[in-house]
Amino acid sequence: MHREINPRELLSNAGLAATAKRLLVVQALAEAGRPVTPQELLTPLGERMNRVTLYRILDLLVERHLAIRHNAGERAFRYCLHGGPAGHAHFTCSRCGHTECLDSRVLDEGLAKLLARLPMRVDSAEIRFDGVCEECLKH
Ligand SMILES: [Zn+2]
Ligand SMILES: [Zn+2]
Repeated sequence: MHREINPRELLSNAGLAATAKRLLVVQALAEAGRPVTPQELLTPLGERMNRVTLYRILDLLVERHLAIRHNAGERAFRYCLHGGPAGHAHFTCSRCGHTECLDSRVLDEGLAKLLARLPMRVDSAEIRFDGVCEECLKH
């Protein structure tokens, strides 16, 4: 799922100051283009960021709905940038663990209808597909 992302705009639209470190994290998430673990983010960020700062910024991005925290059934959470009113769906390969974002906008209309009919207030949603990825299917 590749969309043009302007990190500075994204932060300011959420009412957050575009500090250098926040910009780095949003940029790294945008470049990853798939759900990544904090460890995977730390590698390209290297010396410019320590783990505690990274976690704090990720928490803030999730709290402001700029990023999705996604549990792919692993030890670590994965993070990706938000898309669509109900977020977006993810696919996880049960053989190699490969996780990717799915462009699930086609589901948005149906989800909106479903949510409108529910008597409860839904604050977040997570749609996860498990299966075998394209690469693993070849072997
Ligand atoms: Zn796989
Ligand atoms: Zn995603």
